Amino acid sequence: MSEWTHAICPQCWDKWFGDRAPVALAEAVREWELCCFCADGTNAGLYVRYNPALLLCEGIHEETSANPGPAAKAGRRAAAPRGRR
Ligand SMILES: [Zn+2]
Ligand SMILES: [Zn+2]
Repeated sequence: MSEWTHAICPQCWDKWFGDRAPVALAEAVREWELCCFCADGTNAGLYVRYNPALLLCEGIHEETSANPGPAAKAGRRAAAPRGRR
């Protein structure tokens, strides 16, 4: 994830970008991440481009999954061959 791409939970999407339609990842490839706007965990698969200087994360995104269940791991493997949309 680049500095400008942030995970965001549905609540924060409504609050900050409620006038825009969210673009969500397919359920199979979603991971648990921290919402950069409120620091709650989210696996809604929502991301937004936003100035990192204005957010909690300051553009630093660790590649951790806060809550990786077996289903999430299996989903990631199944989704490995990309390019079919
Ligand atoms: Zn962020
Ligand atoms: Zn949030």
